[in-house]
Amino acid sequence: MYIGRFAPTPSGDLHFGSLVTAIASFLDARKNNGKWLLKIDDLDRPRVITNSVQSILKTLESLNLFWDSTESYQSQRLEAYEFYFEKLLKINQTYKCNCSRRYLINNSKLGVDGQIYPGFCKKKSLRNLDSFATRIIVNEFLVVIEDQIQGLISQNLSKEIGDFIIKRNDGQFSYQFAISIDNKLDNVTNIVRGADLLTSTPRQVYLQNLLDFNIPKFSHIPIATIDKKKISKSNDDKILIKGNQKDVWVKALRFLNQPISKNASQMNLDEIIESAINNWTISKVRALHSIEIF
Ligand SMILES: [Zn+2]
Repeated sequence: MYIGRFAPTPSGDLHFGSLVTAIASFLDARKNNGKWLLKIDDLDRPRVITNSVQSILKTLESLNLFWDSTESYQSQRLEAYEFYFEKLLKINQTYKCNCSRRYLINNSKLGVDGQIYPGFCKKKSLRNLDSFATRIIVNEFLVVIEDQIQGLISQNLSKEIGDFIIKRNDGQFSYQFAISIDNKLDNVTNIVRGADLLTSTPRQVYLQNLLDFNIPKFSHIPIATIDKKKISKSNDDKILIKGNQKDVWVKALRFLNQPISKNASQMNLDEIIESAINNWTISKVRALHSIEIF
C-alpha cells in the first residue's frame, strides 16, 4: 500500500514553499489511494518554536489537507532511534569523532552539503571521550536514485560527503539518521518533498540499505524562491497563504504545473481538491531545482 507523508519542522508557521510540498505529497498519496501521514520533525529542540505545531496543524486543516492516523513526533521516538543506532554500532560501521567544527572548516574541503569529512578519526579508535560524535563509514560506490521528478541522481558518498554524523556530540541523533528511521517506523513507500533535500537523499538511502530497510520512491519538487532565495520564515510570504483557501490551492497547483479547471472560480474548495486529485500527474511537475514565485 502507498504510504506518503508530510514532515514539517515546527520552527514557525507554514509558508508557501512548505505548503506546496504538503499539497504535492497529499495529492500523490490520494491519487494512489494511499495514506498521507503527518510527522512533526521536532528533534532539533533549539529550532522548535512554541505554538508552531498548533499553527501548522490549523493551516493544514483550513486547506482541507486532512492527514490519516494521529500525527507523530520525532521527539517521542528516541527509544526507536537508540535501537537502530545500537544495530549500526554492532555491525562495526561507525566510529567516534571529536573533530571540532572549526578544525574541519580549516582542514577539509567544502562539498555539496558542508565540509567533506576526510576521515581524520577513522583510525584513531578514540575512547574515554566526554564529548564525541558518531560517524557512519561510507563506501566508494555510487548511490544512484531514480527520482520521479528530477530523474537519475547519483552521489559518491566517500568523495562528496565523507563519513557522516549519525549522532552528534550533544547526544542528539542527526537529521539524516532520524528521518531514515522514521521512514521505517511509518512504512513510508513514497516521499514527495522539496529539492533542497536532494543532496541528502543518498545518505538516507545508504543508511536504509545498511539497516536492510525498504527504500521508498523519491520525488523532489522545485523549491519556491523569491529573489533567488529559498522562502524562509524571515522573508514573510504570508500573503500567499492567508485569505481565500481556493486561491492558495490554485497558486499551489500552478506552481506544480498541474491543470486547473476553467470553472475553478465557480467551484468550492472540495471540488477543486477533488479535481486536483483526479488530474494529478507527478511527471508534469517541472524538473527544476527551484522556481521563482514572483
Ligand atoms: Zn574526527
